[in-house]
Amino acid sequence: MAVKALYVHIPFCNHICHYCDFCKVFYDEKVANQYLDCLENEFKQLSINEFETIYIGGGTPSSLNEKQLVRLMNIFKPYLNSVKEYSIELNPETMNIKKLSILKDGGITRLSIGVQTFNDQLLPYIGRVHCCQDVYDLINQAKQLGFKNISLDLMYGLPHQTIDDVKNDLLTIKSLDIQHLSYYSLILEDHTVLKIKDFEPIDEEIEYQMNQLIDQTLKEMNFKKYEVSNYAKDGYQCLHNLKYWRYENYEGLGIGACGKVDNQMKEHSRSLSHYLKGQSILKIETLSKEDHMFNHLMMSLRLVEGLNIDVFNQCYQVNFIEYYQEPLNKHIKMKHLFLNHHYLKVNPDYFYLLNAILVDFI
Ligand code: SF4
Repeated sequence: MAVKALYVHIPFCNHICHYCDFCKVFYDEKVANQYLDCLENEFKQLSINEFETIYIGGGTPSSLNEKQLVRLMNIFKPYLNSVKEYSIELNPETMNIKKLSILKDGGITRLSIGVQTFNDQLLPYIGRVHCCQDVYDLINQAKQLGFKNISLDLMYGLPHQTIDDVKNDLLTIKSLDIQHLSYYSLILEDHTVLKIKDFEPIDEEIEYQMNQLIDQTLKEMNFKKYEVSNYAKDGYQCLHNLKYWRYENYEGLGIGACGKVDNQMKEHSRSLSHYLKGQSILKIETLSKEDHMFNHLMMSLRLVEGLNIDVFNQCYQVNFIEYYQEPLNKHIKMKHLFLNHHYLKVNPDYFYLLNAILVDFI
């Protein structure tokens, strides 16, 4: 299968959020320049130049200065003819109209803005340094420049957050004319500030209620849920992330970036010093057919559309229904899963049980 998606990792951040376990380092102008050199070299070595989607994530890509953003845009500009969606992640406090113009000129079609909450009192608890006015300003400026595909990242289950706080965030979202939302529950990862400070996660029942409230309210606002944590207005599903969830091929550039090419999984080392010396360690693992089948199932069941059984059968030359007969029968009987026009889907009421369901398919 051809590779049609490219992920580009920019690891620099101006501050470290209290929940973050992503691959990131503090921004340094000189180091960022060296990193862009290495990134360009790595891209040249990829013998692919026809992508449908490019996603620049981080870290904080917008922590790069204006000159560096121009440079980043110029690396990919000659390859945009076939690209249907070109996304970049932004943090509000790092942006200005000049940087937005650079992105627009560079061909970016989709902005993904890290918001987390519109409550200025809660933001410091998670180590965010912007305020919600920064988000409004950024969205307004982006619209003025003609960006028509804006996504916001939000979180629930934050320290001291109440159901009313989530309601207020949803009301604010309603007032903004945006196209896509990623809405994640806070996960306490090891080695994060929140974990080290022994932050007590919110009660599971309250978290469930928040999730129900988000699902219901966004539905009323015409955001269709299409993945466990993602919602889009018609025609604005994230094409790049859909490729991950449909278990299609993708390449990754930069430290910590992953790729999948047919039966091989690639993973870059997180070591910045190795990367800058041109010694990026790329772990390439050839997975067994069974491992790929499980990964494919695990990714695709996150989607509301579910797993395309015909594609699966063709990919692995198996009969899906026979192969997974036992767990399928069990979870269909319990109404956790259902079959619909060659797709296996999770009953939306049971998305919260997805991990437990998947265990039976291992
Ligand atoms: S901005 Fe993103 S990558 Fe950087 S510390 Fe915060 S969550 Fe992590």
